[in-house]
Amino acid sequence: MWRGLAPLGLDRGSGGYRRYAWSGADAECREWFRAQAESRGLVHEVDRNGNQWAWHGDPRAGDAVVTGSHLDSVPDGGAFDGPLGVVSSFAALDELRRRGAEFARPFAVVNFGDEEGARFGLACVGSRLAAGQLTVEDAHRLRDGNGVPLPRAMEAAGYDPDAIGPDPERLARIGAFVELHVEQGRALDLSGDPVGVASAIWPHGRWRFDFRGEANHAGTTRLADRRDPMLPYAETVLAARREAELAGGLATFGKIAVEPNGVNAIPSLVRGWLDSRAADQGTLDAVVSGVERAAREHAERAGVDLDVVRESFTPVVDFQHALRDEIRRVLEKRGRGGADTGGRAVPVLGTGAGHDAGILSASVPTAMLFVRNPTGVSHSPAEHAAEDDCVAGVRALADVLEGLACS
Ligand SMILES: [Zn+2]
Repeated sequence: MWRGLAPLGLDRGSGGYRRYAWSGADAECREWFRAQAESRGLVHEVDRNGNQWAWHGDPRAGDAVVTGSHLDSVPDGGAFDGPLGVVSSFAALDELRRRGAEFARPFAVVNFGDEEGARFGLACVGSRLAAGQLTVEDAHRLRDGNGVPLPRAMEAAGYDPDAIGPDPERLARIGAFVELHVEQGRALDLSGDPVGVASAIWPHGRWRFDFRGEANHAGTTRLADRRDPMLPYAETVLAARREAELAGGLATFGKIAVEPNGVNAIPSLVRGWLDSRAADQGTLDAVVSGVERAAREHAERAGVDLDVVRESFTPVVDFQHALRDEIRRVLEKRGRGGADTGGRAVPVLGTGAGHDAGILSASVPTAMLFVRNPTGVSHSPAEHAAEDDCVAGVRALADVLEGLACS
């Protein structure tokens, strides 16, 4: 499976993946998914929001066990974030068939569309739409960096943007959703475990800071006469780091747009995007309000106007305790994918990264498995998981699915 996926959307220059929603690379990944489904005799379908499903058994029977993840990527993303979950899902089904397991419930592998939000700025669009957490009107307003609206991008890819919207009937068929994902931190590396179970997803969001000043000549405008928005922006970046350290959360300015973006021009506009996350809502509020306060102070001092817009927000997700405990029981009983655990407990981890599983958890019992990432590096070509750990992940997922879906 990896051989088929590896070249799709790979940028030879950076060595990273550029699998943006509704792009050519995305279409190739979707074709790969369809082929994997059909080669296993699964029924392939695409829902109204562009999510792909591969069914074993009759979905209308309800109480289905669903596993999967996403195939799209961030700009220059790694090979594992998303695809590891999809590949492992198909591999786990192969493993269950090898074991001769008989399914007592319908089973599906899913590929959620536009999870990373790399193109339109909002993460988990496919699952948010299905779960009714993104309105059709708001989705239709999304635009990519070239000004292409989401509906035009969907049309160009051969999908009907007027069909998108809440899909409660489809979600009601799901009795449990399990997403396997490469860990995006080093907790498993530090604990020495190949596989862990998720406890919660931290609350997180994206805020856009627009600093508006006055464009002018870099060579003829006296320093005292400038209204340079880059200065309060720079102070705000430093404040974000300070506030995050103070409160014990995370804050990152990783994307910036400058107008007119000329070497010899004082900018008229500096637009920076803050990504902030924390283990709890109070900490997150403290970080973001601290950053905004600093931004306003510095903007005023520089004679610059400031607008702060919250572009997206996801509250804390506490995965269903019953399903999580059931999964731990299965993994601990079976020795975590066949390995001898020596009586060790399966680690339970929180994460600062958002996932489709987090979106679905509002409507469906949901759980996540993490596979060890030896460096913790993610959203980068350096993202990695060792082959042995990937195999342990597949076995663990197969154990969990067997426990949930098979008689
Ligand atoms: Zn992911």
